Amino acid sequence: MTQRRPLLEFDHVTLAYGQQEKASQGGHVAIDDVSCSVGSGEKFVIIGPSGCGKSTLLKAAAGFLPPKSGTVTLDGAEVTAPGPDRLVVFQEFDQLLPWRTVRGNLTYALRRTSGRSRADVADRVEEYIAMVGLTDRIDAFPHQLSGGQKQRAAIARSLACDPSILLMDEPFGALDAQTRTRMQQELNNIWRNLGTTILFVTHDIQEAVLLGHRILVLTPGPGRLRALLDNPHEGTDSDDPAVLEFVGRVKALLVDTTDAEDASMAVKGAGG
Ligand code: ADP
Ligand code: MG
Repeated sequence: MTQRRPLLEFDHVTLAYGQQEKASQGGHVAIDDVSCSVGSGEKFVIIGPSGCGKSTLLKAAAGFLPPKSGTVTLDGAEVTAPGPDRLVVFQEFDQLLPWRTVRGNLTYALRRTSGRSRADVADRVEEYIAMVGLTDRIDAFPHQLSGGQKQRAAIARSLACDPSILLMDEPFGALDAQTRTRMQQELNNIWRNLGTTILFVTHDIQEAVLLGHRILVLTPGPGRLRALLDNPHEGTDSDDPAVLEFVGRVKALLVDTTDAEDASMAVKGAGG
C-alpha cells in the first residue's frame, strides 16, 4: 500500500459517558485505549458490532466528545471542538434544513464556511449537486426527496465545504439494499474524483470491504482494537473467491468474542 501522510490520529484514546467524577470509578467506557491514524486521502473504515463504540469514536474525531484520556489530533493540532474542517454525515435522513431547498442548503453551508464570492458559491453548489446526480432535484425541498436523495444532498453539502476529512457514520444504513449499493459505488467514484480523506463507520462487512483502503475492527463494547487490516479489494464489488475469503476473515474477527483482558484473566485464574 502507498504510504500516506498521517492526517487524523487517535493516540491511546479512551472515551466514556457520564460525569467526570464517575469516570475515575469506571464510568461508562465506550472506547478503550484505541490508537490508529488515518492517512491523508485515505478511505478508512471502522467496523464493529452494534454498541461497540464506533459512533463514539467518530464523535471524538468531530470534536463533540473530549477523550477521558489520550488525544485526537488533525494535522498535528489537538481536536478540542467541532469545526468545518471535520464534517459529519449521519445515518438520519433529516440532516438538511427543512425550510431550504437542496440548492439553499448547500448555499447556506458554503456561505457560512467559506469566504467565496456569491457567484463562486452558486457555481460550486451546482457543481457538487451535479456530482451526486441531483441536478434535476436542485430546487426541491427535503420533504420532497427520497431517503437516498437526502443523503446525496447531505454528502454534496459536506464535500462542497471542502473539509480536511469527511466523517461518515453509517450514512447508507437506513437505505434499501439497491440504493445502498449504488451509493457505495458512487462514493468510490466521488473519492476517485476528489481524493477527500474519509473516515467511514459501518457494521456491514461487504460495505467495509468495498469502501476501505484499511479496515479497523473493534471488539464488542467497550471497543478495543481487534485488528487493523490492509484491504487489497477496495473498490471491487465481486464474488471473486479472494474477496469472499477476505470477507470471511473480517467476519471471523468480528464474531470473535474473546476479550484480550478476559482471556488473560482466565489463564491467570486457571493457573491459580
Ligand atoms: P455503535 O456506534 O458502535 O453502535 P455507540 O458509539 O453509539 O456504538 O455506543 C457505544 C456505547 O456507548 C453503547 O453502550 C451506548 O449505549 C453508549 N452510549 C452512546 N451514546 C451515549 C450517550 N450519549 N450517553 C451515554 N451512553 C452512550
Ligand atoms: Mg453508531
